[in-house]
Amino acid sequence: MSTNKALADFAAALVSGSIKVVDLSAPLGPETPVLYLPPEIGKNTPSVKVHEISHYDNNGPFWAWNWLELGEHTGTHFDAPVHWITGKDYKDGTTDRIPPKNFVAPVCVIDRSKESAANPDYLLTVDSIKQWESEHGAIEAGSWVLLRTDWYKRNGSAQAFLNADEKGPHSPGPTAEAIEYLLTKNIVGWGSETVGTDAGSAGGMNPPFPAHNLMHKNNRYGLASLCHLDQLPAKGAVLIAAPLKFVNGTGSPVRALALVP
Ligand code: MN
Repeated sequence: MSTNKALADFAAALVSGSIKVVDLSAPLGPETPVLYLPPEIGKNTPSVKVHEISHYDNNGPFWAWNWLELGEHTGTHFDAPVHWITGKDYKDGTTDRIPPKNFVAPVCVIDRSKESAANPDYLLTVDSIKQWESEHGAIEAGSWVLLRTDWYKRNGSAQAFLNADEKGPHSPGPTAEAIEYLLTKNIVGWGSETVGTDAGSAGGMNPPFPAHNLMHKNNRYGLASLCHLDQLPAKGAVLIAAPLKFVNGTGSPVRALALVP
């Protein structure tokens, strides 16, 4: 087998620490905030439960293990195309069938943390993406595009993270036009720091929940509840986000990692 110089250099950079690994995942456990849907819209996903099988005791004297109860769309997680009705017919649209090369890709990070701090209903527009491209260069085909809002800093409190009142949730996200624009760039997926890939106000958009509707309609992916996007450059990092190989899975918690220069 021949060696590849790029891969050998990459391995050396990992060992020397000149390429860092940044953890983009939130802790996953019973305290993990989960999406809340009003009952008239649909059924809800449960909170994570950890059930002990043994803990070096009569149930297993030399070992500890647990079994888990959790939704596919819990914590830092991956949305597969079949998650949405618009993507339901893709044969390679389930977590076990997505081509694995799509789990490793370059990443563009659009920092709108100031705007989101000033306005929790902040929406990313096409003009704002074009502004970012004028500063950092065009978004390239095959990239992930992530919206940095610093919303992950609220992740420890379900109330602050979901940020709902009687009018519904208030959290930042993309306009439908922004997602349409990103799809013209042939991106691999769209990711956010909020509980889902869409804005809190996305149920009232056209189409409703455009990050889900349009990305999955085009056999593209989503990442939700990402953390530490403030540790990533605008361009130049590589994202690794592989869902569990659930048979016919619509999504999965992931340990999302970024390789950062
Ligand atoms: Mn999801």
